[in-house]
Amino acid sequence: MADSPQDLQHKVAIACRILGMLGLVRESTGHVSARIPGTDEMWIRCRGGNERGLTFTGMHNVRRVDFDGKGPGLGTEHFAPHETALHGEIYRARPEVQSIVHAHPYYALMVGIADLEFLPLFGGYEPSALSIVLKGVPVFPRSITIQNKEIAAEMLKCMGDRDVLLMRGHGITVTGRSVETVLQQAVRFDRLARIMWDAAQSIPKVSPIPDEDLAAYTAPRTPRTGRETGSDWGSAEGSENWGWNYYVALLENDIGLPGD
Ligand SMILES: [Zn+2]
Repeated sequence: MADSPQDLQHKVAIACRILGMLGLVRESTGHVSARIPGTDEMWIRCRGGNERGLTFTGMHNVRRVDFDGKGPGLGTEHFAPHETALHGEIYRARPEVQSIVHAHPYYALMVGIADLEFLPLFGGYEPSALSIVLKGVPVFPRSITIQNKEIAAEMLKCMGDRDVLLMRGHGITVTGRSVETVLQQAVRFDRLARIMWDAAQSIPKVSPIPDEDLAAYTAPRTPRTGRETGSDWGSAEGSENWGWNYYVALLENDIGLPGD
């Protein structure tokens, strides 16, 4: 069953808290948004009001605005983030995208600074993260924030139809077909960046896994259950939300679910 607008708003607030709990965002950097189906509007984590940072996002921080960050849903105490164009222009250009995470996580920063390549260093450890590597990680070379439509268009051109983008000297942008999938993919992408960074620091020479093992992850899969399709390894296109449920449970046991 499709989410109601209020369900979506709640999920955006939860996703912000999870990103904070896991260290992908700090203080009031980063934002999560969700397209409101059938409209040219989105829920987006705004600024202002009783601002306490992403980790302590409340429902009031997530406002309903149009793709330019305007509209009566903004209210008088909040304002759309200055990188609203990043969200709005992706929704305009890519109708399949239903939710977006933009964050400034540490390991993505370091991988970008060091110009490290995302290599297939593991297989069975986390096939869905390997899937990100095999599809290729586009790197946006500009380190400025996405404050207008012109720079957003440049970013979109670089990202193409991929669901992850490394923004050198800045952060990451991740897209998905739901808040649940985009949150999981952002966490996975962050974990992948950490593996690339740690491997580069600790090993004199890192080696990709053998081609014959890689082939096991690029060949079409025989679905075992109705949840699996084609050669995708449960990444952003998978339909299960086990990772989301896990992180929500962690959140409930840690800083708690968002209030008003
Ligand atoms: Zn940013």
